[in-house]
Amino acid sequence: MSEIQLLPQVREFLQRDHAHFIDGQYRASADGARLPIIDPANGQVIAQVAGAGEADIAAAIASARTSFTGSWAETSPYQRGMILNRLADLIEANGEELAQLETLCSGKSIHLSRMFEVGQSAAFLRYYAGWATKINGETMSPSFPSVAGERYTAFTRREPVGVVAGIVPWNFSVMIGVWKIAAALVTGCTLVLKPSEFTPLTLLRLAELAIEAGIPAGALNVLNGTGEVGAKLIEHPNVAKVSFTGSVPTGLKVGQSAMAANLTRVTLELGGKNAAALLPDADIDAAVAGLIQTGYVHQGQVCAAPERIYVHRSRLEETLAKFAAALQGMNIGSPLDESVQFGPLANKPQFDKVVQYLQLAGAESQVVCGGKALARPGYFVEPTVVLARSPQDRLLHEETFGPILCVLPYDEVEQLPAFINDSPFGLTASIWTNDLSRALRLIPQIEAGTVYVNMHTFLDPSVPFGGIKASGTGREFGSAFIDDYTELKSVMIRY
Ligand code: NDP
Repeated sequence: MSEIQLLPQVREFLQRDHAHFIDGQYRASADGARLPIIDPANGQVIAQVAGAGEADIAAAIASARTSFTGSWAETSPYQRGMILNRLADLIEANGEELAQLETLCSGKSIHLSRMFEVGQSAAFLRYYAGWATKINGETMSPSFPSVAGERYTAFTRREPVGVVAGIVPWNFSVMIGVWKIAAALVTGCTLVLKPSEFTPLTLLRLAELAIEAGIPAGALNVLNGTGEVGAKLIEHPNVAKVSFTGSVPTGLKVGQSAMAANLTRVTLELGGKNAAALLPDADIDAAVAGLIQTGYVHQGQVCAAPERIYVHRSRLEETLAKFAAALQGMNIGSPLDESVQFGPLANKPQFDKVVQYLQLAGAESQVVCGGKALARPGYFVEPTVVLARSPQDRLLHEETFGPILCVLPYDEVEQLPAFINDSPFGLTASIWTNDLSRALRLIPQIEAGTVYVNMHTFLDPSVPFGGIKASGTGREFGSAFIDDYTELKSVMIRY
């Protein structure tokens, strides 16, 4: 058990004086403060990044606007698709560098960085690239009768909205950044990305690869800094759309300021308190394996991950025993060690928040397994399962965004919709059963953007993804994203 060797280019990249990527090149910060980047596995500072000031924000938006009406507008849909495919190839070719940089900033296991930040990012880019040549309007025959023999015809055009501000959280910087880059560029928009202050490095490297792939200068800009930079971006009159992924409290502010700024369009992908329901006939081995895999991946810091588990009382003891056995065998340690299954939380505020929820678990519920922070450098806690004492336990209602699964037994399947819907959130839910009829009857009663059966947290680019209730508005993936990034222009012709 030992850590992998860092690549020389990763060591070199960490040493650079990082700031922003504007108009196709690295730019020093005009007036922003410097932020330390911390490795959550040991609490050490690994790099410095300068935050953006007013002048940097103005320059990035001006550059994106110039490309929107110029270089990117002149790039044909076919060329856009080719360029996004080339970027996917370059992400894979430079995959180990990106994976190592992301693991160092976020504490994500190196396996996950390779699989999601590299592999999935390339796959999503290729899916979106296919849309480049397929975004069209419709023709229609106007319906009112002719008065004096004249005729009418009409058609619609899908036109890109303009400059997009993409605001990215710290949990999957490259992959979530790529979702925004791909959707904006394939529809003909240009963008300014604001990564989280905790994980800014990989999107800077990606912006370099974008130039190498042929994305013209200005079509993709990256601005670093705290949430204040995101807030200022949203208020800018030349930003036509905001695509935000993050927490509910920040998402509410973002939605309000976008509306106040310029009736600016918003897509909000926010948090969740996602339920999994194990029906009386569930295959408990398969359900526990699936929920361990999806509930503790990246230490539970996944918006779509299950956090509350409803188990039929007849299967409760078996389920808890299997959870405890699986978690006790988990290898906890450095995310750069390929044998490790569970690493640190991503940053200090997130660690503090999860530790508070672990204390609450001890006080309000019954800890079945785990329950403590680990006495070692870095932001480590134990993967934890908790048994709720009542349906009102806070751990059944508040998003921890951490590795704490809270179990509640139930007696009748008919109780499940009320339990599952007793939440301000509505991102994902899962039903575990071999009784397809029961599953299909439950699906329409569940308030969630995605309902899984015998699986959880599987994101496929062809399947729309997004939340209802406080989990957000708008959809990514499939064809659903096209509406959010384009204006529908109607053209009528009299002849
Ligand atoms: P935050 O809401 O704290 O931050 C998200 C992004 O917004 C960061 O880049 C942040 O910058 C920036 N930001 C902070 N304040 C503002 C502001 N006032 N205006 C504009 N931008 C701002 O979320 P986290 O980064 O903590 O991410 C975790 C949350 O994201 C969880 O609740 C999780 O459920 C949700 N999430 C949802 C997903 C989905 O698809 N539904 C996917 C992934 C995460 P900075 O970090 O520098 O403060």
